[in-house]
Amino acid sequence: MRKGIIVGNWKMNKTPSEAESFMKEMEAYLTGNEACDYGIGAPFVDLDRCVNNAKNLIVAAENCHFEDNGAFTGEVSVPMLKEVGVTYCIIGHSERRQMFAETDETVNKKLHKLFANGITPIMCCGETLETYEAGKTEEWVRGQIAAGLKDLTGEQVASMVIAYEPIWAIGTGKSATKEIAENTCAIVRDEVKKNFGADVAEKVRIQYGGSVKPENIKEYMAEKDIDGALIGGASLKVDSFKAIIDATK
Ligand code: PGA
Repeated sequence: MRKGIIVGNWKMNKTPSEAESFMKEMEAYLTGNEACDYGIGAPFVDLDRCVNNAKNLIVAAENCHFEDNGAFTGEVSVPMLKEVGVTYCIIGHSERRQMFAETDETVNKKLHKLFANGITPIMCCGETLETYEAGKTEEWVRGQIAAGLKDLTGEQVASMVIAYEPIWAIGTGKSATKEIAENTCAIVRDEVKKNFGADVAEKVRIQYGGSVKPENIKEYMAEKDIDGALIGGASLKVDSFKAIIDATK
């Protein structure tokens, strides 16, 4: 039985003091006995305060570099995240792929570096509206999974999280139907099975992301291959994140 995992993705939102108040309010609400794992992905400058105020919430970075250090102005390395106490890291979000030149190859390098430092990756995949309308979602997503997970061990893949986020559903309010979301999450699991075997595919946790909110989280979580959600807009306000937790308790 896979444990559910719901992670907020704040993107470029919240100053350190705003992040701290959110953490304090949420931690006062959580008991630690919830059936799912809950967490947030925060901007680099917020991470220290998030970690210092976290008791039950997972704290994730939203990106990292694949080298340990060097001449990479503006970048943040995995050893830096590790020292701050971050335990998860979102990798390959479509916004990073589309706006910041992230590729399957850099995603793969980052995954290797994270595992080498004991940080769990949340690897994102998902197709554009054009690919979806051309009926090429399966081919596209299988390609992203196979390339992103290249040369990892089965044990590593079994421990990580994969988020399927159709780009046409992100921040648009147009969430994928539960059938579409389940169908593609099942494809993701099948591609993991093809590359790493049935046992690993049974263990890897797969999230759906794209306009998830308190009103629709439950129907996604009821699907066989959906183990959680990566949530942008609805994770920004304490009230709506609490409502998501209530809906998944
Ligand atoms: P959204 O974003 O929930 O605002 O659609 C999801 C994401 O980008 O992870």
